Amino acid sequence: MPRRTKIVATLGPATDDPKVLDKLIHAGVDVVRLNLSHDAHESQRQRADRIRNRAQACGRQIGVLADLQGPKIRIGRFKTGVIKLVENEIFILDADCPLDGGGEARVGLTYPELVNDVTRGDTLLLDDGAIVLWVSDVSSNEVTCKVVVGGKLSNNKGINKQGGGLSAPALTDKDRADIKFAAEIDVDYIAVSFVRNASDVIEARHLLEEAGGEGGVIAKIERAEALDCIDEIIQASDAIMVARGDLGVEIGDAELPAVQKELIKTAWGMNCVVITATQMMQSMIESPIPTRAEVFDVANAVMDGTDAVMLSAETSVGKYPHKVVEAMDRVCIEAEKTQTARRSHHRIDTVFGRVDEAIAMATMYTANHLGVKGIAALTESGSTVKWMSRISSDIPIYALTRHVRTRRKVTLYRGVYPVSFDVASTDIDQVNEEVIDELLRRGEVRESDLVIITKGDRSGVEGQTNIMKVMRVGEHVLADKNRIEGGT
Ligand code: PGA
Ligand code: MN
Repeated sequence: MPRRTKIVATLGPATDDPKVLDKLIHAGVDVVRLNLSHDAHESQRQRADRIRNRAQACGRQIGVLADLQGPKIRIGRFKTGVIKLVENEIFILDADCPLDGGGEARVGLTYPELVNDVTRGDTLLLDDGAIVLWVSDVSSNEVTCKVVVGGKLSNNKGINKQGGGLSAPALTDKDRADIKFAAEIDVDYIAVSFVRNASDVIEARHLLEEAGGEGGVIAKIERAEALDCIDEIIQASDAIMVARGDLGVEIGDAELPAVQKELIKTAWGMNCVVITATQMMQSMIESPIPTRAEVFDVANAVMDGTDAVMLSAETSVGKYPHKVVEAMDRVCIEAEKTQTARRSHHRIDTVFGRVDEAIAMATMYTANHLGVKGIAALTESGSTVKWMSRISSDIPIYALTRHVRTRRKVTLYRGVYPVSFDVASTDIDQVNEEVIDELLRRGEVRESDLVIITKGDRSGVEGQTNIMKVMRVGEHVLADKNRIEGGT
């Protein structure tokens, strides 16, 4: 059984060697993430080119996701590079302090407006919560804090406010420029950081389209207030990311597991794709094997139903990029074995709005209850396979399409495998044979297996799927011959 859950791996200095990329590809990476918080456009462009070249050389389809930095509020830099904060002492976040002029007593801010967003009694978390500050006083240019949890603090660390409520808009000037860049290198997805509401997503999509980009838009759920309007955000997004790093800092780490499960469930219920991200294999930045807790974390996300699991520093700057992917791969495969139940009450009470949607649902019901070997969906935009993949099943869904863009987009969908396929014949029965021959050629099906094919009367037009055909491999040729001989 092929792995259904997809693996997203962040590219960085540790993966720039094409040999490392080949190992990542062989280990099973489905989507790569370019983290636009780091590195210049030029090196990110080279990374996109390199992975596409290597994927093509390896005969694989790999999606590219550009992750926008967003309004990550950061402290400036210290003259000494790092300082030590001591519990109960005073430390000042100073909007007037030059960005590289920080010292033991105060440091600058990338977002001077922070002074307007905090009041006495607020808690600020630095470096993903490693440092905790209590706000004792706020003036027009300074936030005076008492150190609650101290420790080493180095340059450019992030700042979050516990409970959320920072006013910074989701899209910064840098993000706007980065969206144009993302369109230019033709990424398959952009991820919008620190989304507050649906309009942030809609605006990002608009900017992407304006720049000529055709990728999907992923909303990163990492602000407390995003949870209050999650349905609208999901509606506006092609996928969401459970961005556990910043989200955990804002809402508290203990709240995360329940929120992750709820977000995955809600996303699936609304036909949205979901990625679970951050610290999944954190110890593997330094170590060739994961901890037991990390194994459980990845497996639990798979059992929760996530479409994809994501690696950040583990691959981008880690010591063992391909070993992390291998570890994730084997953990996902084992976790999926617990989920073979072919029963789903998903959307059982829904009235479907579209014919293609109804065909997708009927196909999964039939596939699960009849026990077919595979589903071959002839698709233009990939929406049929997205609907299909929202139904729990262990049956592979092949997305057969001539569009490379669609093949790359579906790399993120759980249980969906892209297949390059162009309909050669205009004869509707002939097309079925071509499909089965393609699956046979790839070794995905064998003689006498049952398969389901979905397609439209008119191929090449989006949203036209209106046929579900059950066929038995080997009999397809025979059946057609009989028909010809029988003269019907
Ligand atoms: P980041 O987002 O890695 O870009 O911060 C993910 C997260 O916050 O979990
Ligand atoms: Mn984040």
